[in-house]
Amino acid sequence: MTSVQNETGVLAGEPRMLIDGELTETAGGATFDVIHPASEQVAGTATDGTVEDMARAVGAARRAFDETDWSRDKDFRFNCLMQLHAALEKNQERLRRILITEVGCPVTVSGSQIESPIAEVKHWAEHGRDFDYLVDNGVHETPLGPARRKLHYEPVGVVGAITPWNVPFYLNIAETIPALMAGNTVVLKPAQLTPWSGSELGRIVAEETDIPAGVFNVVTSNANEVGAALSADPRVDMITFTGSTATGRAILAAGAPTVKKTLLELGGKSAHIVLDDADFNSSLPLAAMMACVMSGQSCILPSRILLPRSRYEEGIEILKTSMANFPVGDPWTPGNMQGPQISETQRQKVLGLIKSGIDAGARLVTGGGIPEALPVGYYTEATLLVDVDPDSQIAQEEIFGPVLTVTPYDTDDDAVAIANNTIYGLSGEVSSADVDRAFSVATRMRTGNVTINGKSHFGIDSPFGGTKQSGLGYRNGTHGYQEYLAIKTIGMPE
Ligand code: NAD
Repeated sequence: MTSVQNETGVLAGEPRMLIDGELTETAGGATFDVIHPASEQVAGTATDGTVEDMARAVGAARRAFDETDWSRDKDFRFNCLMQLHAALEKNQERLRRILITEVGCPVTVSGSQIESPIAEVKHWAEHGRDFDYLVDNGVHETPLGPARRKLHYEPVGVVGAITPWNVPFYLNIAETIPALMAGNTVVLKPAQLTPWSGSELGRIVAEETDIPAGVFNVVTSNANEVGAALSADPRVDMITFTGSTATGRAILAAGAPTVKKTLLELGGKSAHIVLDDADFNSSLPLAAMMACVMSGQSCILPSRILLPRSRYEEGIEILKTSMANFPVGDPWTPGNMQGPQISETQRQKVLGLIKSGIDAGARLVTGGGIPEALPVGYYTEATLLVDVDPDSQIAQEEIFGPVLTVTPYDTDDDAVAIANNTIYGLSGEVSSADVDRAFSVATRMRTGNVTINGKSHFGIDSPFGGTKQSGLGYRNGTHGYQEYLAIKTIGMPE
């Protein structure tokens, strides 16, 4: 968390794209508006790139991969990324203002979306510098005598990176920097609602680093077909994507004809199993906070709380108090931890899902609408729905709003079954006074990550990924770095 902001106020980001080393507009000059969700006002514009722009960017990335030393010169890449790291640190407050302007992320919690990803640039530069790209895999016997095998880790090629709007600067960094350090060239396609977190990165790369033309490209667009064109282009070797499961399926299908390597981090519907011996006074206020920070627009949010029937009403009371008193309001005001939803469309989707839950028999305990004190901005009340049927729409669909659903259970086995009753498998959480018992439950959850007693699994040095329809592959850790490398196995004389 950050408590100090050096600059404040709405700030428009770079309106141009970065293609083949040039900050550029689209041929027809088309732009689209970027809205500040806390004021509902237009904050500026971004270039509305076309499929032709995307084709040019992919062509530039292809040339830079095939015809320059970028893929082979690790020391140069290290120097360029350290330059980028320094430039991002210099631009930190500008980047924070742009983030708050386009996302409405509260300044108080913006550190994880600005300082952390900037630090990750340095991490990946050093990780890539120290990575062992040639590994001896020993000698084996063959009919023609002994042969040694060496594993050579090589960049995959041209990587298309497609990112969502909820944590845009962080994900632009997370998807592109390890790919670049591994020797790939990149075309980034940021989300429509948050083009500047991408175009600003493009500007900084172009103006403040020696990264060669074509190595890093950014194409902003208001049209989904431009992302679709990237994911289908035969010149692209790999797609790294974070976003909804529906789009992930489309990307997988688009890459199938050319058998593209695909790294997908998708949606979630994570459950928090609160065991009957848990300390409710520590676990439940934290659960409420997690639901409200970032306005619930978090993929790993444990939005389904499973409470033991024996302590059901006690748990609901604690959640109600925490959610009803959560500091919501202007993201520029320090202390506010919940800002607006990103758009009116998203807010209406959240309100519609809340209504569907009530229609399906859930009990509304607090929230459920628009805060009276905040008529301007896309704010939504922190909402607690209990007695939620685990098969109902609100228990099955990702809400992406400040909403918790509560479902009672009788035994640990029931809790695990309800937690696993979803197409998703991103994260989960278990709370218990008995860590061994919690660990045993955690191992039975069909998810890629689990938090026990609020101790987060998430960090740059540990693999992060989803199972089931929450994703394919990993970010972070050595596993995450290796996603951007192909292994060539070379057999040779002993
Ligand atoms: P989205 O899937 O609507 O859009 C994500 C990106 O895909 C955008 O850049 C969009 O322009 C692009 N896109 C849309 N259609 C496309 C197509 N047919 N082909 C190629 N690209 C296309 O997601 P969103 O609404 O921006 O983000 C919210 C979603 O992201 C949620 O489901 C959330 O759970 C998920 N998310 C997951 C993680 C994770 O790590 N698993 C992290 C953050 C967000």
